[in-house]
Amino acid sequence: MSKPNKNTEHVSLPTEAEVVVIGGGIIGCSTAYYLAKAGLDVLVIEKNHKVAWEQSGRNWGFVRQLGRDPHELPMMIRSNAIWQGLEKELGAAVGWQQGGNMGMTDDEAVIPDYEQWRDAARQHGVKARILTGREVSKLAPGMSRDWTAGIYVASDGNADPERATDAIAKGVQKYGGQVVTDCAVTGFDVRGGQVAGVVTSRGAVKASTVICAAGAWTSTMVGWLGINLPQLRVRGTVARTQSVERILEPASWTPSMGFVQRQDGCFTIAGLDMTDLDLRLGDLKYARYFLRDFMKNRHRVSVNFGHPFWHDLVGRLPGTAAMKDPLRRPRISDPRPNTKLVTATLKELRSLFPQIRGVALKKAWAGHIELTPDMLPVIDDAPGPGGLIIVTGLSGHGFGIGPGVGATVAELASGKTPAIDLTPFRLDRFAAGAWNEPYNLI
Ligand SMILES: Cc1cc2nc3c(=O)[nH]c(=O)nc-3n(C[C@H](O)[C@H](O)[C@H](O)COP(=O)(O)OP(=O)(O)OC[C@H]3O[C@@H](n4cnc5c(N)ncnc54)[C@H](O)[C@@H]3O)c2cc1C
Repeated sequence: MSKPNKNTEHVSLPTEAEVVVIGGGIIGCSTAYYLAKAGLDVLVIEKNHKVAWEQSGRNWGFVRQLGRDPHELPMMIRSNAIWQGLEKELGAAVGWQQGGNMGMTDDEAVIPDYEQWRDAARQHGVKARILTGREVSKLAPGMSRDWTAGIYVASDGNADPERATDAIAKGVQKYGGQVVTDCAVTGFDVRGGQVAGVVTSRGAVKASTVICAAGAWTSTMVGWLGINLPQLRVRGTVARTQSVERILEPASWTPSMGFVQRQDGCFTIAGLDMTDLDLRLGDLKYARYFLRDFMKNRHRVSVNFGHPFWHDLVGRLPGTAAMKDPLRRPRISDPRPNTKLVTATLKELRSLFPQIRGVALKKAWAGHIELTPDMLPVIDDAPGPGGLIIVTGLSGHGFGIGPGVGATVAELASGKTPAIDLTPFRLDRFAAGAWNEPYNLI
């Protein structure tokens, strides 16, 4: 990723706020936006030099209902409605395009799964269509090959990850909230079983509500309070092409590639054949929760004992700076892309769309994706001290659902009944063994 401009608007850290939100990703910023809009005094604390430096600024930009676990659909429907009016609401561009989302396949065996999902989605009011091969070709004209079938949701869309969270963070400030970057939360202040604030690299902040939306770091952080949150981190690689003439509307999936043509004409592409798991010692703590799914998908996971493993190991030695301050050494997350995957994916795009066979690569990057064992989020105010809300585990699809989660968590934090039932997202499902296998349609 190229180094973006700093957006530290407030260099001084307030000593008090009604609500502190840890993490300036799309989840933290959206939550803060709705809290600030409702008139609460809210402060977002982000450890990087800008918001959305981690997952929220590195994703593909898909905003999809298609293929969601039905448990998540009501939240995603809420989010989709927000996205459709978000640019107007914020008065800022977020790269929104409502071009639909389409999966395509040659495997007839998945068609019954498509039908089952379509029927489940229909019960929530989402219209999905099963497509013939000819209909797939109509929606993505000019492809060099035919497909057997597809599935399509016209009300889905995509947005620009490099702009969306930034625009939402500016919305927080417009309503009087504060966003402080370059500041790491290093501890929780808990008194008499109630959260009283946070400790940061730049001083303490008092708050009666703390929302931990720290993405891949959440499990470590809530671990400081003795809360067990099973989380695993994998590395996803993404690439962007140069801009070409407009040839495609829907954000799309083949079995081996996800791709979307952005507003600026560039394609965002990502290979699905391989996910990198850069093993660290800490990952072993919750390995048993992920073993079943790992074994099922092991042909698509590359387990690496490389730099991150040794880095993590050395950081755990007694007396090291990292041991004293677990957020110091690995504080910046800017993983390297898998170049082999980038090359293969670009080749596949060029071959699928001969009319852009000369398209060149603009850049490639990677991002850590945090997963829960069932790939559903954890949204819960029950574990730990009073006043703490955990919002994490968006499991590789939290960009699209982010604004909906933010609106819902803001209701929870301000004592209202959330518009979406949060029962499927309780943390205690893992300890109770009451969680299902991840839902995988595409
Ligand atoms: C390669 C890739 C492709 C993806 N594609 C899609 C897609 O197409 N569609 C989709 O819906 N989703 C997608 N996702 C997933 C989506 O990006 C994430 O689920 C979503 O951005 C999570 O948002 P978040 O705010 O929870 O986490 P993050 O964006 O990771 O934000 C968490 C923030 O917390 C900060 N933080 C952590 N610890 C501290 C601390 N101690 N003090 C202060 N700040 C702290 C971090 O620096 C970080 O900025 C993709 C993700 C990746 C990486």
